[in-house]
Amino acid sequence: MKKDQLFTRRRALLAGAAAVGAAGTAGLLLTGSPEDTPARSAAPAAGPRARQPALKPSAYRLRPLAGNAGTPLATPGRTPVRHEPFLRMSGRGRTMVLTFDDGPDPRYTPHILDTLAEYDVRATFFVCGEMADWNRDLLSRMADEGHVVGNHTWSHPLLTRMTRSGIRSEMERTSDVIENAYGERPRWFRAPYGAWNRAAFQLGAEMGMEPLAWTVDTDDWETPGTRSIVRTVEDGAAPGVVVLSHDAGGDRTQSVRALRAYLPHLLDSGYHLTLPRRQYT
Ligand code: ZN
Repeated sequence: MKKDQLFTRRRALLAGAAAVGAAGTAGLLLTGSPEDTPARSAAPAAGPRARQPALKPSAYRLRPLAGNAGTPLATPGRTPVRHEPFLRMSGRGRTMVLTFDDGPDPRYTPHILDTLAEYDVRATFFVCGEMADWNRDLLSRMADEGHVVGNHTWSHPLLTRMTRSGIRSEMERTSDVIENAYGERPRWFRAPYGAWNRAAFQLGAEMGMEPLAWTVDTDDWETPGTRSIVRTVEDGAAPGVVVLSHDAGGDRTQSVRALRAYLPHLLDSGYHLTLPRRQYT
């Protein structure tokens, strides 16, 4: 896509997002604090898997519409229909959740996994089905190393502009790929751009998934600089915070490097990086 076309597309999507908010969904989309995931220096990883996924940076990297918020959670057997996503995790102590969206991308995700492994930390990856389909080995690695994989739809569309059957297809196909490559169906989902609607909540619950947004947005998709990302995460650090970062959708070198910097700082500060937990209200 040419630059002007990208710009137009982005503006159109953002306008749509604004319309969504104006239409009354805004009440569901609480805002949170910004935060991020650390990364380490990322040299493009050619790696064994040279297949290049069809990246869609322009489509992926629009500013999320929603922030964060916290709400109580699910029951073991049956997943309730939520009216808003969880923006943070409840619980005791200095625990935080790191999340990485839009991947996996063989150029960046392996570096993030390496850093997490180095510090023995688990994270959550909200993958897109079309990326996961091209990089199944990375989902296998996530499973092997104890990370959680969530559903971020197949092609990262704006769900608020889709039919219910279209949304169902985006979510189901993605859960199928995750099940095949990761070993089990996802229990969490996150709407692209943070644009949730009733159908997404209902279908997610039907598929046994809880909606998870975030508390701190690193804005790493805007490539604000590694230091900026690190600062956002460290300034936003607090108990229960869920950090949003990206391991795909564009050049994520800064995200990788930032993780490398802030992760040891968070650990030194006494934070325990953990996985999202289904909770009772
Ligand atoms: Zn996304």
